[in-house]
Amino acid sequence: MTSNRDVWVFVEQEEGKIADVSLELLAKGQELAQKLNSQVCGVLAGYQIEELADKCIHHGADRVLLADHPELEIYRTLPYARVAADWARERRPYVFLFGATPIGRDLAPRVASSLRVGLTADCTDLQIGDYESKKAKQVYPDLLYQIRPAFGGNVIATIVNPNTRPQMATVREGVMRRRDPDTTRRGLVEKIEPTFDVRDLVLQVLSREVRESQVNLKGAPIVVAGGAGVGSQENFELIQELAHILGGEVGASRAAVDAGLVSREHQVGQTGVTVRPRLYIAAGISGAIQHRAGMSESAKIIAINTDPNAPIFQIAHYKIVGDLAEVIPMMIRAFREKAK
Ligand code: FAD
Repeated sequence: MTSNRDVWVFVEQEEGKIADVSLELLAKGQELAQKLNSQVCGVLAGYQIEELADKCIHHGADRVLLADHPELEIYRTLPYARVAADWARERRPYVFLFGATPIGRDLAPRVASSLRVGLTADCTDLQIGDYESKKAKQVYPDLLYQIRPAFGGNVIATIVNPNTRPQMATVREGVMRRRDPDTTRRGLVEKIEPTFDVRDLVLQVLSREVRESQVNLKGAPIVVAGGAGVGSQENFELIQELAHILGGEVGASRAAVDAGLVSREHQVGQTGVTVRPRLYIAAGISGAIQHRAGMSESAKIIAINTDPNAPIFQIAHYKIVGDLAEVIPMMIRAFREKAK
């Protein structure tokens, strides 16, 4: 098995807009490539999307492999997998990263199985480091540490692929920081004509309906989140009212979602959205590790909980021990007064 040391990032785009997670991965890819003394290559596929190549370079790509073809206009598993797997088979990158989005989660396993390599899903961190196998009595230098929660989030596992290339992973949205675009960066754009097998094109998209998400948790500067402690729909309306007054977004723990208090797109945490707002208000949330995984990097955290020993208080900057049904109306009144 031979490979170069390049880090590839699948750049997901829809209707000419690059997914945030891809920009985050280009920045992380640049950090990894510097440790490997190699380059970051963006893999960009679509139709009439040539101008996106520059954006990839501004966000960290040194090179862009571009497939611009009418058959790639709308994402379909087989043609996209054909492009990504054929190129990776031919050029053997060292690392190949995808966002853990619906598209990335569909595409990456298909590419990995076509290349007969492993894939670690839903990583929350990536590093470069050596690995010593006691069994093989061998040290493998500069492997990709694929880091993710395991066993229900109770341990953080580091997974390595010593023997196969590329080392492949999908990465959670929002966990890596994107960098500000540097429009002075220059890179190489290589346009490659994809070749499809007729079997790649068996699925035809006849029509498409896109529903914009009504919830923008990732980009919200303020998140007011409710947990199981909110207890009732009536109390959850207090969470929504406070979020509205502060110009923020409503978040929730999984327990609140499971209790039917709010829809799943509001869930924050390991299996929900990762947020990093300026202010996160956690009301009636105990602070389980899986919830904290999605919000612990918030700039300021206010926690409201009746239990003074609730784990959320370990990471809160402001701690309010009390009943949220009393505390939140007081906060709403205070903010209303201030806004007058
Ligand atoms: P609880 O743990 O039941 O806490 C309720 C809190 O409310 C308590 O601290 C209580 O003291 C307080 N309270 C009660 N009444 C009041 C009141 N009147 N006023 C103020 N406080 C009050 N969880 C997530 O949130 N996000 C995830 O993405 C996620 N992913 C998971 C993935 C896996 C694989 C697993 C195994 C679990 C996951 N969980 C996730 C679930 C997680 O382990 C917890 O069960 C969940 O976060 C608990 O939600 P909670 O804090 O709202 O509920």
